[in-house]
Amino acid sequence: MRSAPNIIITGTPGVGKTTHSEILAERTGLRHLSVNQVVKDKECHEGWSDEYQSWIVDEDKLLDVIEDDVKAGGCIIDWHACDLFPRSWIDLVVVLRVDSKTLYDRLEARNYAESKLQENLDSEIMEVLLQEAREAFDEEIVVELTSNDSEEMESNIDRIESWIKQWKTDHAD
Ligand code: ADP
Repeated sequence: MRSAPNIIITGTPGVGKTTHSEILAERTGLRHLSVNQVVKDKECHEGWSDEYQSWIVDEDKLLDVIEDDVKAGGCIIDWHACDLFPRSWIDLVVVLRVDSKTLYDRLEARNYAESKLQENLDSEIMEVLLQEAREAFDEEIVVELTSNDSEEMESNIDRIESWIKQWKTDHAD
């Protein structure tokens, strides 16, 4: 039994996962678990892929490394994939979405190569991560939220914060 919920914040790179997770962690006391950081720090990978410009993640090792923390509850898991996490670990899956133009500008600002930028734009338009979340978890726990501007982000954070409070009340015993 967890005393605080575990939440996945997922979506295409650039949608605002890290920004949302950091603010939420600050406001709620839950812990921001940046999977990118864990993969790097704990070497849960089989090297760097030049083609994808990312680590080739060793998912079994990653799950082993985070298992105790996540089972204790209160984690905000920030990553672009979600279907590797056991369903029993997760209470809410937030899929952040943005318009193509906004995503283009954010990824361009990060100096993404054109091919990688297009790949991510296609993935966002095709709702790849939303579908992945809906296939991996019960639909009732998957929430799609837009994150085009700071007003939307503020409203998303308020909404998730209220959800966390309600979860704690419901699980108080
Ligand atoms: P991710 O973790 O999904 O890759 P980030 O949180 O790093 O995305 O956000 C990417 C960029 O977009 C950052 O510069 C961040 O400040 C900006 N950003 C994220 N969400 C919003 C938002 N809702 N409104 C305005 N800017 C945002």
